Formats: sequence, C-alpha cells, structure tokens
Amino acid sequence: MTVIEIDNLTQTPKAFAARFEPLEFDFDDDDGLTLTSPAEVAGEASLKNGELRLRGTVKAEAEVLCDRCLTGVPKSVHQMFDAVFVPASEDTRHPSIELAADDLSKGIYESNVFDLSELAREQLLLSIDTRTLCREECKGLCPTCGVDLNRTACECKQDDVDPRWAALAQLKNNLDKS
Ligand SMILES: [Zn+2]
Ligand SMILES: [Zn+2]
Repeated sequence: MTVIEIDNLTQTPKAFAARFEPLEFDFDDDDGLTLTSPAEVAGEASLKNGELRLRGTVKAEAEVLCDRCLTGVPKSVHQMFDAVFVPASEDTRHPSIELAADDLSKGIYESNVFDLSELAREQLLLSIDTRTLCREECKGLCPTCGVDLNRTACECKQDDVDPRWAALAQLKNNLDKS
C-alpha cells in the first residue's frame, strides 16, 4: 500500500505502512541526499471535518553531503511527523479566509488518493534540514582551487576568511595594540 484512500478514513486512526526503494525518490544533486536503503513509512491516518491527519515516522539509511567538503556522510534517518492536510477544493472556495499562523503548516490534498511517497520524500528532505558536517573540525574545500583541505594543503592565499573568524582576528588585533 503506497497510497491512502481518504474516503475510507474516519476519526479513528487507521494504521498504514509503506516501503519505497531509493530509486523511487527523484532527489537531485541540490538536495544533497542519497538513500542507501529503502525508506519505511509507518503511522496512522485519520479524517476529521475533511482534515486529513497523518502521524508516524519515516526511517531510512542515507548519505548526506558534508556542507563544507561535500564528502558523503552516512546518516540514519528517523524522522517523526504529525501533519495535517486540508482539501484543495475547500481552500479555493474560501480564498478570502486568512490563514491563521497555525494553518500555514497545513498541507493540501487534491484528490481522494494520498500519495505516501510524496510525504516520505518531504520528510526525508526535512530530516536533513540541519547542518551536516563530516566532522566538527572539517576544513572544507579551498574556495580558490577546490582541493579538499582535510587531505591536501594548497598554496592559495585564503582571503575569504569566515566572517566570524575575521571578527575574532580583529578583536585580537585590538587587544594586542592596547
Ligand atoms: Zn567535511
Ligand atoms: Zn587552494
């Protein structure tokens, strides 16, 4: 079962589970994420006043690119979700209703069939929304010649100093002078 038939739901939560092969997600290079195992989605679905609520977890083994040196970093994804979806038609029928801040977090479903792979895809991307580093002290790539500074030193002059370090250097300068 890789879809949920919304008409079959009631207020009483109903369990669902699905499994997707890595190739079923079309992540592109910008996403910086590759699955190294199938993704497992499991949880329960309910429907109340037209609002579809899905709660559960997405689990997968993945490889995420280090933000600094672009090396693949293995990561076990265990992303919990509690998402509410409102029907698209209702939304367009009341275009003048101002969405409360809370409503902005709601998704939209457009047909009676809800595609769990879309949900899984979104949750997988959310799970890597934070900074990924291969290690805390990763030196990254040289902005000039592109070598991996963790492995090789290069002769380039590093003008592009991280602004935070620049501020510290400035501070130290001032201290030395006084
Ligand atoms: Zn790195
Ligand atoms: Zn260099």
